[in-house]
Formats: sequence, structure tokens, C-alpha cells
Amino acid sequence: MSERIKAAIRTIPDYPSAGIQFRDITTLLEDPDALRHTIDTFVERYREQDIQWVAGIEARGFIFGTVIAYELGAGFIPLRKKGKLPGDTIEQCYALEYGEDCIEMHTNVIKEGDNVLLVDDLIATGGTAEAAVQLLRKEGGKIIESCFVIDLPDLGGRKKLDAIDCPSYCICEFEGE
Ligand code: AMP
Repeated sequence: MSERIKAAIRTIPDYPSAGIQFRDITTLLEDPDALRHTIDTFVERYREQDIQWVAGIEARGFIFGTVIAYELGAGFIPLRKKGKLPGDTIEQCYALEYGEDCIEMHTNVIKEGDNVLLVDDLIATGGTAEAAVQLLRKEGGKIIESCFVIDLPDLGGRKKLDAIDCPSYCICEFEGE
């Protein structure tokens, strides 16, 4: 099944800059069977895990995360780019190749010890997911796992999550950057 899902993902070379192979999930979203298999794969994996919250990383983590939350009977928490959330927030910044980026979440949503599933479309260097895990833990969440449709193993993101004791799961992987 993961081969069927992988085959629905389009690769666009040199986007958004030269040398990047952009793994485009819009073609997966356009394919009803591949989309259903993707959601079902996650939901079946986490159905018995007593998840209270699914946290999705802006923006493509929202697409998968909300449906997974609905199916698991969990709430959905958006982890957003800085300055987008209207209530009280905490932020976590992380290094990019040049400069840094920050993500934010609303405070006082998670209760201490609530089980949280983190979702994004893709893990590359793992910087974004690591910041997300740190945010959710600061708010008292217990991360059951972080899950992604796509892993780029050559960029080592899952090792970064291993190093902070956060288990991860990916449906498929692509070699290279
Ligand atoms: P990172 O923090 O390096 O793991 O980057 C992860 C974020 O960047 C995810 O939210 C992805 O959507 C996006 N991203 C990074 N590399 C790619 C790529 N090659 N194709 C598509 N999206 C990417």
C-alpha cells in the first residue's frame, strides 16, 4: 500500500530553488484512493492509542491532521507560523540554513499528560518537527509519536527526533534531498 501512496506523490525538480527535489503531495490529494489509503494507514496505526490531541504543522500538516483527529475522536491543535494565532501563545524557534524560523501554539489547551500525535506531510532535516515536539512538551503533552507521509532519510530528520526520545513513523521515503 505504501508503494501505491508513494506513486501518487509528484516530484518537481528545482522547486522552490535549484537542486531541491520538491515532493508534491497535491497529486496525492487529487487521487481519492491514495488519499483514503494515507488517512486509513495513520488511523489504523493510532486507533487504540487513546490519543486526545492531533497537532498539525502549518500548512500541509493541517490537511492530514484534521482528518486523522476526526477519525480518532481527538481534538486538533494547529501549530502555526509566528504571528498567526489570536490567543495567548508560546513559541519555539529553530535554525534554518540561513537564519531561523519560529512556530507557535495556543497555551492552556493541553492538560498535563494528554496523549498527542504530531502530524506533518514530510520530514527533511527534522528542525520543524523537533521544535513542534518541544512546544507540545512544554505545554504538558505526551507525544505518542510523530508521523509523516514522507521521509527524506538522507537529511536525518528522524535521527533528530530519536535523539529527543520522540518515536516517528513515515509511510514512504525518497532518497536524496
Ligand atoms: P524540515 O524542518 O527540514 O524537516 O522541513 C520540513 C518541512 O519543510 C515540512 O513541513 C515540509 O512540508 C517542508 N519540506 C522540506 N523539504 C521538502 C521537500 N523536498 N519537498 C516538499 N516539502 C519539503
